Amino acid sequence: MKKRKVSRKVIKKKLPKGINAMTMKTGTIYIDPRLSPVQQKIAKKHEQTHRQQIADGKLWYDSKFVYWNGKKFDRKVMEDGSKTNPWEKPAYKNQKNA
Ligand SMILES: [Zn+2]
Repeated sequence: MKKRKVSRKVIKKKLPKGINAMTMKTGTIYIDPRLSPVQQKIAKKHEQTHRQQIADGKLWYDSKFVYWNGKKFDRKVMEDGSKTNPWEKPAYKNQKNA
């Protein structure tokens, strides 16, 4: 997959219920400011992993699918942010070093 230029922005923004942080396809990261400072740090580390995955051309998504290393994952049958998804494993591993 092709490498992408990504934004380095990290923006504090109130997010829908149940979402602590997210990475846009542009690379911009949103973090909910209602999280504690420690949680924000962890979330940032987690999302930065996804940003790097997008930059490396490993991770992409649209409204229906997540694409990981050339494989397609149907969003309907997966839990968003689930630790079992292969793109989440490195993110959860990295956030431990926050
Ligand atoms: Zn994640």
